[in-house]
Amino acid sequence: MESPLDILRRVFGYDGFRLQQGQAIEHVMSGGDCLVLMPTGGGKSLCYQIPALARPGMGLVVSPLIALMEDQVKALRQNGVRASYMNSTMDYEGFLTVSRAALRGELDVLYVAPERVMKERFIDFLSRLKLSVIAIDEAHCVSQWGHDFRPEYLRLGELGRLFPDVPRIAVTATADEITRKEIISRLDLSRGKLFVSGFDRPNINYQVVLKDNPRRQLLAFIREKHAGHSGIVYCMTRKKTEDTAKWLSSQGINAMAYHGGMDGDTRREYQRIFQEEDGVVIVATIAFGMGIDKPDVRFVAHLDMPKSLAAYYQETGRAGRDGLPADAWMAYGMADVTGQLRLIEMSDGDRAFKTINRQNLDVMLGYCETTECRRKTLLSFFGDSCTVPCGNCDTCNNPVSTWDGTIQAQKALSCVYRTGQTYGAGHLIDVLLGKNTPKVIEAGHDSVSTFGIGKEMDEKRWRSVFRQLLALGLVMLDPQGYGGLRLCRESRPVLKGERSVYFRFDPEKARTSRVEAKTKERPAVADGSLWEALRAKRMELAKAQGVPAYVIFHDSTMLEIAQCMPRTLDELGCIEGIGCKKLELYGPAFLDVLEKFR
Ligand code: ADP
Ligand code: ZN
Repeated sequence: MESPLDILRRVFGYDGFRLQQGQAIEHVMSGGDCLVLMPTGGGKSLCYQIPALARPGMGLVVSPLIALMEDQVKALRQNGVRASYMNSTMDYEGFLTVSRAALRGELDVLYVAPERVMKERFIDFLSRLKLSVIAIDEAHCVSQWGHDFRPEYLRLGELGRLFPDVPRIAVTATADEITRKEIISRLDLSRGKLFVSGFDRPNINYQVVLKDNPRRQLLAFIREKHAGHSGIVYCMTRKKTEDTAKWLSSQGINAMAYHGGMDGDTRREYQRIFQEEDGVVIVATIAFGMGIDKPDVRFVAHLDMPKSLAAYYQETGRAGRDGLPADAWMAYGMADVTGQLRLIEMSDGDRAFKTINRQNLDVMLGYCETTECRRKTLLSFFGDSCTVPCGNCDTCNNPVSTWDGTIQAQKALSCVYRTGQTYGAGHLIDVLLGKNTPKVIEAGHDSVSTFGIGKEMDEKRWRSVFRQLLALGLVMLDPQGYGGLRLCRESRPVLKGERSVYFRFDPEKARTSRVEAKTKERPAVADGSLWEALRAKRMELAKAQGVPAYVIFHDSTMLEIAQCMPRTLDELGCIEGIGCKKLELYGPAFLDVLEKFR
């Protein structure tokens, strides 16, 4: 029997295992169950694909999205693996062909949608086969806290009882404690092993900017750092995705909106375009992403604050799967926080639901306002440590300086108190600045003792103060919503002068020198025309087979080809990501291209 490592080298063209791949595969090989938590792009698929190939029988993979399973099957076939899928896009004939192949032992891996798996007929079919492994991809879909919840996942736990001799492996990139526990209990994996890999994505640069004119800020970000690149922009509402996409298009960016309200055909078409073409920007609600397996997404931008840090990490994780530099950029402001709180309070969820969501919001806000390394904040949320400074986030690159704002904090808090603890930051700032707005006069706030005591600072600085007081937990949002601020227990020591408060200076504007520095670190290709020629060849081969370009070779593989200029098939075969099958299929064509540039 071929060893897992041999298969990794021969079929996939990689030298060694990454993260916990080796351990997880060994465990499954010996028949054990497990849950594998690995960051996006970490290489979760190999954890079940290799046992499927190495153990006798066929591997069954439960995967929630049709597009995802189709891509995986295409990629596996390119590597010479006998893979197929069963999903609702197939006709009866198609099913027959696939099931016959499976029954004849001619399939290594079969992908199937969760709603099909637990059907009686399908279980019957499975019991007539020899199964090597059962894999549950995107296992966080069992979690009701997550936004990817799929009710069909709830029954998958029964597979353990139905097929007691087949090892089961669940994989996901979502790793917060609640989700992890839910997966283990719902999938009945408590007797299995847990493999957690470091969650760091060192190639992603994290940056949070304050909303000023968010669309323009986004446009500037794309133009400065990502002209012609593929990227995802997340917005909260469907309408906003459409408006933003339209506007970006009018500014010369190849942008398309994508949301759950669009019909299935359009969504699939847009997804295909994004997946297969270069330089497309998708402006989407969270409905977009789970099925995206595109390795060369160069940036993920958030125009609205996500609901939780776990969601944020998952969404930003879609950038830079190929390991090359990528950006996670977010614009945020106080209105995001008040808006989200209102949504939570107005929702039908029970108390526990609201409490968890409020906590999630707090953590998210803490991330936005941190004066520390962003990566450290992110990783500590997942229980990971990080060597600080990471050197690849905005707070590391432009260290935040702080100022003693104890007096201003006291002024702000007493203004909250004097005006009755129901007003939002905007009104409170008017009072502090001594502005006679109609609202101030009507409420009689021109006669409270805090009227006009804050003239030493302008409105912008005061906004920053209120935002940070909230992030520091020194003031709370009125649970009734509408952005009103109230005092909380932590406010007292500040008001009584027992606690001093330091605020961060809001960065004026990211220094462009940093942008340039980062851009320079991008892998340089010596000869632009060679690079273009290699890409053109890849595109030609991809078109001929009807697959996305990266299924032929990833950008990182292409870069290595350009840098090493291999002369023979053997030399070419040494490059990462070129297994036996691809070497045979594409090797000669690429060597021909290289020949012209010697
Ligand atoms: P995810 O964990 O997000 O499912 P994938 O399984 O899609 O990640 O893997 C991401 C990329 O990393 C793929 O292109 C895959 O071929 C590559 N990869 C996986 N394992 C290794 C490895 N051991 N060495 C090099 N590349 C790997
Ligand atoms: Zn950092």
